[in-house]
Amino acid sequence: MTSPENTLVDKKPVKKLPEHAPMEQFPVRDNVLMIAGEPITDFLNRVGKTPFYVYDKAIITQQVEKLRTHLPERIHLHYAMKANPMPDVVHYLSTLTDGLDVASHFELGIALATGIAPKNISFAGPGKSDEDLEAAITAGVIINVESRGELERIAVIAKSHNARPPIAIRVNPDFELKSSGMKMAGGAKPFGIDAEVVPELLQALPNFPVDFQGFHIFCGSQNLKEEAIIDAQTKTFSLAAQLIKASPLPVRWINIGGGLGVPYFPGEQRLDLTPIGENLERLLIQHQAIIGEDTEVVMELGRYLVAESGLYVSKVEDVKISRGETFVITNGGLHHHLAASGNFGQVIRKNYPTCVANRMTSNDKEIVSIVGPLCTPLDILANKMLLPKVQRGDLIGLYQSGAYGLSASPTRFLGHPQIHEYLV
Ligand SMILES: *Cc1c(COP(=O)(O)O)cnc(C)c1O
Repeated sequence: MTSPENTLVDKKPVKKLPEHAPMEQFPVRDNVLMIAGEPITDFLNRVGKTPFYVYDKAIITQQVEKLRTHLPERIHLHYAMKANPMPDVVHYLSTLTDGLDVASHFELGIALATGIAPKNISFAGPGKSDEDLEAAITAGVIINVESRGELERIAVIAKSHNARPPIAIRVNPDFELKSSGMKMAGGAKPFGIDAEVVPELLQALPNFPVDFQGFHIFCGSQNLKEEAIIDAQTKTFSLAAQLIKASPLPVRWINIGGGLGVPYFPGEQRLDLTPIGENLERLLIQHQAIIGEDTEVVMELGRYLVAESGLYVSKVEDVKISRGETFVITNGGLHHHLAASGNFGQVIRKNYPTCVANRMTSNDKEIVSIVGPLCTPLDILANKMLLPKVQRGDLIGLYQSGAYGLSASPTRFLGHPQIHEYLV
């Protein structure tokens, strides 16, 4: 006899669970993941200890090339270095991109040390101190002004240095980047100056001792919907054109933001850059009378340039079973990789693409949860994932770890050893 419940279950269509996008950026040879042509096990023997982050230059280059191929030639590419401020990574990207965007005094130092021209560095961020502004003015980088008060402080410091610093006005638009991982514009925001009050500020600008460059319009981060990006970029161009018309001073520079995302979680797919590039091409033509050839149009990207290049590698310290569930305990965790633990802005915790880097093709699999060594239930790297069976000493790899990894993690929490990052 079938119970009513069973009948219901039988009628349900079999739903295929969403899967991670394919992670093929690192090849596999003899069951082992390869990093820059070397088995990860050999790499570990050379560097000596886990955990570590490794970033692959070839993949960073590939991402830049993808953008250069699909975006109009006129669009300048900047690297927003808060995604990964490791000096080697920043230096490498300074050779591939047209500029760097910094968001702190410390990042400014790293950017300047790459040797790129200060005019190709821009400095954004709410709450810049007088010391921050002084450093930016002395260096000659573009300051993205976040409030009227900040502009007034810039004027005072500029006068005392007898300088006319290049500035751009960061605009908080009256629209948002829809379905974004993080919204940073539209509505009330601490970032930028509300679009509707910018025209009035522009009228006052000729009285300030600054060298006005243009506008910075950044809407959000981690977007995987082409239509949403196209919509935001279309509105950004219209807003920029409107502000240019309202400006008594010439506009030489527009930063249209970025927001391009990468797939992290099951069901997410890589962006198709073709429609985005085609739309930008159209927008440049549509607005050419106002945003002329001599206006530099910049797109600033962090995550898209570096996320795919990075792998976070930790070692299995223990495998235990608790009431039927298998826990793999590693020497890495949320103290190095807060985002993978699901605690960096995520609403619902989901698993990063994960592998057992020394058992890539093993078919002997089981469902396990991978946790870190911290005494907190938040320290989860993978929750109930089907992975090759592991032993103590095996290597767990987390893909998509090149952005917002180590620098976005609470490294001093519980006092575990500091770890290394490698650019290969
Ligand atoms: C964080 C940030 C970026 C980088 O965003 P990604 O999603 O990493 O590309 C760019 N510009 C500004 C102003 C930012 O605050």
